[in-house]
Amino acid sequence: DLYQTPDVSKPRYVRVNTLKLGVDSALIELGKQYVKDNLVPDLLKLPPKCDLHDHPLVVSGCVFMQGKASSMVAAALDPEPGWEVLDACAAPGNKTVHLAALMRGKGKVIACELNKERIKRLENTVRLSGAHNIEVLHGDFLSLDPKNPLYSKVCAILLDPSCSGSGTVAERLDHLLPSYATGQAVNIDERERLNKLASFQKKALAHALCFPQVERIVYSTCSIHQIENEDVVKSVLPLAASHGFQLATPFPQWYRRGLPVLEGSEHLLRTDPVEDKEGFFIALFIRKDRTTIQPL
Ligand code: SAM
Repeated sequence: DLYQTPDVSKPRYVRVNTLKLGVDSALIELGKQYVKDNLVPDLLKLPPKCDLHDHPLVVSGCVFMQGKASSMVAAALDPEPGWEVLDACAAPGNKTVHLAALMRGKGKVIACELNKERIKRLENTVRLSGAHNIEVLHGDFLSLDPKNPLYSKVCAILLDPSCSGSGTVAERLDHLLPSYATGQAVNIDERERLNKLASFQKKALAHALCFPQVERIVYSTCSIHQIENEDVVKSVLPLAASHGFQLATPFPQWYRRGLPVLEGSEHLLRTDPVEDKEGFFIALFIRKDRTTIQPL
């Protein structure tokens, strides 16, 4: 599974599940070698080669094994307690339960997932997190009708669609080739796979832009390829503008931004598979003219 490849040589991060445990309590239980991350709240950095898979705090769902880049996605969306948020492609649910924690268990997270097998993993993650405000929805995000009253209160969407996963395996590939990020270095089969993924990603992002009450959308991949990242964002810019959305800057203090292949690339965020240990991409769209549903 590309999404959960363990590699103990990397510095590990754990995200404290604040639905179950406070960050300071976690620090006391885990010990002094852990430090708070300077960017993502509730994220703790631990020394390389430290493996927590069997730790009681992990087994009990008080902390989740989640990388920094992956944890930046829900934090970039920054949902408020009381909001209704749609996680469009949710399994195994790491970002779903992060959303619930950021919302302090208030409001609702609708977690949509197409794949029946992965629904089970999603449900396990939700159970482990202790969140009571997550509704798991087995279905195709592209088939959800944005005008259906069921989604009329959705004010934020997290879209983390299927992707090549190249950002998590790129260390094993030749990431130093400049053509790699742009996709020129991949073979024909891989190129075809990337084209198919990109086609779905574009459709899914365009679909997210059509939900009438949504005021924030975060789009993310664990891919380093321009075709799944900047090109997807570029393809929806006219539609986004027609619905009143603009690109916003997640984590403005982060230095690594999008490839300069579209206007506004400085708003986009990239992490590097080698230097940052995982290659992720994050884009944030914001629409200002919506009346935010007041937090509970
Ligand atoms: N956000 C998840 C997390 O952090 O744990 C990882 C999501 S994974 C990158 C993408 C997921 O989207 C897969 O589980 C896949 O089955 C699901 N998916 C693919 N196409 C979908 C669709 N049309 N509607 C809903 N889910 C879909």
